[in-house]
Amino acid sequence: MSEGLFVHQLALGPWDNFITFIGDRASRSCAVVDPAWDAATIQREAERLDLRIAAILCTHSHFDHVDQVEALLHHADVPVHMLRPEIDFSGFACENLVPSSPGDLLRLGEHVEITMMHTPGHTPGSTSYRVRGGLVCGDTLFVDGCGRCDFVGGNPQVMFGTLRSLVEGLPGDTRMYPGHDYGSTPTSTLDEQLRTNPYLRHGTVADFVAHRMDGKTPDTALPPRPQWSPPKG
Ligand SMILES: [Zn+2]
Repeated sequence: MSEGLFVHQLALGPWDNFITFIGDRASRSCAVVDPAWDAATIQREAERLDLRIAAILCTHSHFDHVDQVEALLHHADVPVHMLRPEIDFSGFACENLVPSSPGDLLRLGEHVEITMMHTPGHTPGSTSYRVRGGLVCGDTLFVDGCGRCDFVGGNPQVMFGTLRSLVEGLPGDTRMYPGHDYGSTPTSTLDEQLRTNPYLRHGTVADFVAHRMDGKTPDTALPPRPQWSPPKG
């Protein structure tokens, strides 16, 4: 990618979550997007890459994206960014939480600038983090898929508009880094996704909603928790 910037994905947990590191080569500082499942492994990965964690970024409030925020704060006393609409929707709270607004800029060193984009649909305050040439998009867009819209706060009509605005508003060579490793490759570009992702091929919102919901009723349940006990300390 561009000078100074690098993006690294760490797959963790039973649901193939990606924890994404956005880093600045010069200063060795990084932001960790969606720390979940195992804070010690995330911390070790930062050490292996010779990175100092400077910020925690949340794409949304589902526990498989935020359940290690507090644990990681024990290793790194850094700000935690989440969009205000997601905080309002979920009641998410933690130390160092910075309620943020769409368009807010975060900087790593001199070379890396990260922009918070509001990309609702999976949840009301879902966020994508735009960096030069890349988009860390959480559960908004997957390789050949998109986030479910039948959990509490999901809205398939809104998701249709969000996906449209991403593919129409960003350059086609933008590389997307999703929140789960659900595709045949860990990342893709928006141009590739326009060719292969069935959720980007619908011409009308009605067609998209029918496909995405597939008979499901919206706003009924939170995602089920797996059989899993949180680490201590
Ligand atoms: Zn989610």
